[in-house]
Amino acid sequence: MPLKVHPDIASLSPYVPGKPIEELQRELGLARVIKLASNENPLGPSPKALAALSEGTATLHRYPDGGAFRLREALADRLKVTVDQVILGNGSDEILGLLARAFLAPGDEAVMADQTFVIYKMEVTAAHGKPIIVPLKQWRHNLQAMADAITDRTRLLFLCNPNNPTGTMVSADEVEHLLSRVPTHVVVVFDEAYFEYVQNPQFPDSIAYVKQGRSVIVLRTFSKIYGLAGLRIGYGVATAEITNFLNRIRPPFNTNSLAQRAALAALGDDEHVARSRAVIEAGMEQMVKGLTALGFAPIPSEANFVYVDVGRDGRAVFEAMLREGVIIRHIEGRMVRVTIGLEEENREFLAALKRVLHPH
Ligand SMILES: *Cc1c(COP(=O)(O)O)cnc(C)c1O
Repeated sequence: MPLKVHPDIASLSPYVPGKPIEELQRELGLARVIKLASNENPLGPSPKALAALSEGTATLHRYPDGGAFRLREALADRLKVTVDQVILGNGSDEILGLLARAFLAPGDEAVMADQTFVIYKMEVTAAHGKPIIVPLKQWRHNLQAMADAITDRTRLLFLCNPNNPTGTMVSADEVEHLLSRVPTHVVVVFDEAYFEYVQNPQFPDSIAYVKQGRSVIVLRTFSKIYGLAGLRIGYGVATAEITNFLNRIRPPFNTNSLAQRAALAALGDDEHVARSRAVIEAGMEQMVKGLTALGFAPIPSEANFVYVDVGRDGRAVFEAMLREGVIIRHIEGRMVRVTIGLEEENREFLAALKRVLHPH
């Protein structure tokens, strides 16, 4: 008898992650591979996080603190909210799944952009909800159209700010106008995985919306600027009412003890964060200049990656770059996304791209 799978699950395709460095090395026998595909921190983890990890190994036979009290307390102190307003996830990815399961009954709707983080659609569909897809406008979330898309069935609205993969942001004024139009039965999810990189002073203070008691949740992560993607830990900040619902379905030991320790140490390493920000700022300038010199017009980005129309099939460019030992990300059509790396990595990326485009 064939397997009986829920049609919503059958409709999904497995997420394709950025290719790991070791895999490409193995496949092509390359000694050196540069990965600019998953928006990771090119400086690596904070040295303080690494020290905390070694200290944590002696107690690995114990279960983690399921409430992750020290880390949640440190986050609450920093953001001036209460500890019960902070929830941790196995990556902020996991919190997206908790939100979908907690708030969506079958057929309920979740509004999201068409070119945004692909996990939203996956989690909403897996929870038997209905993704309502709103096209971007000039590469940015169209908040007007997203507000227009809200119905009585809407439960979630995903706002990825800055947006992955475009790198664009929406401003405080625009967000406040959106919030004024969102009914209280809708939870607005501010996914701010790249918030620490943003330089634009118009960026919204989304934690302030939480403090005002609005029905919003702010998601952030230790995977990006904090350089801990391999440990899987991220956090959400919301009203205690919202976190309470999420905690009812959160697996009790969803964040491991090493991740909790490393995240706590990384959170206190302001110097590493500042250095990472400076490397990305300089690298962004280098990349935009280099891409412009090659005749491209990268979309101005507030994050640690650029989204660019390569003027030909993006998949072919992605594959040719792999043969050059450079992993980037093909998103769709002619669009590729490139993470900002170290100065030398950026230089090698630009040289490889030039060879791919002009092979003779
Ligand atoms: C990377 C990323 C995340 C976070 O991923 P985790 O590693 O699961 O914390 C969330 N949202 C967006 C838009 C991202 O790019």
